[in-house]
Amino acid sequence: MSREQQAVACAKKAFETGRSKPLEYRIQQLKNLQRLFTERQKDISDAINKDLRKSEVGTQLYETLGLEGEINLTIKKLKEWAAPRAVEKNLLTLSDVVYIKPEPLGVVLIIGAWNYPWAVTIQPLIGAIAAGNAAVVKPSEICVHTAKVMERLLPLYIDKELYPVVTGGVPETQELLRQRFDHIFYTGNSVVGKLIMEAAAKHLTPVTLELGGKSPCYIDKDSDISIACRRVTWGKYTNCGQTCIAPDYILCEPSIQDQVIEEVKKSIKEFYTDNPKTCPDYGRIINQRHFKRIMAMLSDSTVAVGGDSDESDCYIAPTILRDVKPEAKVMQEEIFGPILPILPISGLDEAINFINKREKPLALYVFTSNDKVIQRMVNETSSGGLLANDCLVHYSVSSLPFGGVGNSGMGCYHGKFSFDQLSHQRSCVIKKLNMEGVNNMRYPPHTLKKLGW
Ligand code: NAD
Repeated sequence: MSREQQAVACAKKAFETGRSKPLEYRIQQLKNLQRLFTERQKDISDAINKDLRKSEVGTQLYETLGLEGEINLTIKKLKEWAAPRAVEKNLLTLSDVVYIKPEPLGVVLIIGAWNYPWAVTIQPLIGAIAAGNAAVVKPSEICVHTAKVMERLLPLYIDKELYPVVTGGVPETQELLRQRFDHIFYTGNSVVGKLIMEAAAKHLTPVTLELGGKSPCYIDKDSDISIACRRVTWGKYTNCGQTCIAPDYILCEPSIQDQVIEEVKKSIKEFYTDNPKTCPDYGRIINQRHFKRIMAMLSDSTVAVGGDSDESDCYIAPTILRDVKPEAKVMQEEIFGPILPILPISGLDEAINFINKREKPLALYVFTSNDKVIQRMVNETSSGGLLANDCLVHYSVSSLPFGGVGNSGMGCYHGKFSFDQLSHQRSCVIKKLNMEGVNNMRYPPHTLKKLGW
């Protein structure tokens, strides 16, 4: 038996004992997980610092605080979420008990990505535990140090048979994907997303795919451009652009392009000083493969700001590209790096048209002081999420479903949505064996007389 097969067998066996089902057990596991974040903050942030050069405060802000909030919410609400829900009845079931009972799916496979390695791996795990499942956790191998820490720490805090961690790269993930699961929750790019779905189809396993793509950002000329650019700068260059919902490119009218460049440049300086390379709040590209991929995107566009890099340190300066053409290399795939292309367009109509001609994005941003512009974006485009006059923060609202649509993913999570996503909504009708007389009309022989017609 391979290591992967063993982990799946172990999780399945533990699930079959039924111990993941009582709410008290789920809550206890969530409390243990919470304790991991209070007691092991340093191990977590040291590893992430080695992987992505994230600062300790940055790690708390963008990874662990959100997870702790999610755990608190889940502990508080679990009883309510897991309770059977009575529903409306029809004539045939008027005297019966009719309800929906959320029940665990079984063993869930969670495959995480590297860019926010704790957030995107543990957040689905919170949902899996809350819903009463077992889960095999596969952190991304790209975050070498974090994967090791996760493999070491999780079994010290939560049930290591119900929630085993499997580390490794593509061959190990592929071996896991050959096993039978009851749900697969994958976070990563759309190309691999298709492979996940293909593997899942062999066992008819349902999937949640949290993917990425090019999230557009429209800046209307009727807006406070200085504030808009400050917020875009934050959304773009946080984690060195390696954020699934980072604004990928800007669409704006040519008349404001220079002002947008100046304002973003000003904010870069404010956030990351004159020398971002030495600024503790400015990260690094995860590895040299991604460094080369991102640098190759610069070759056929005009650099307005930044552009300098250091391959040995995986450093790419915060960069702005101006007058970018839709055919440019930087517009052919998700950038996932600190490059901000600006594409001049004639106005809102062209922006909407531009967005609609492309794959449905994970996030869509619009900056404007005009409510009508916001409403047109809401009504005339589609995306996983839409945010007006800010970046990223919709991710933090646990009462909103987080997920993509079309090429940016399927399914959603966060808060109750995680619980629902990883539960089966079982339909229950509980009858009694009395009142047989009322059933006469449905039994043959079918006559009009029986129906009273
Ligand atoms: P990655 O390379 O870490 O891959 C993710 C997982 O897929 C890893 O665990 C890896 O082992 C596995 N994998 C990779 N290639 C595979 C293959 N051929 N077969 C089977 N498994 C394979 O992460 P990535 O894909 O580079 O992550 C970045 C992408 O993830 C971006 O597109 C980003 O937008 C997206 N993302 C989305 C979200 C979201 O919540 N929607 C969050 C973070 C990242």
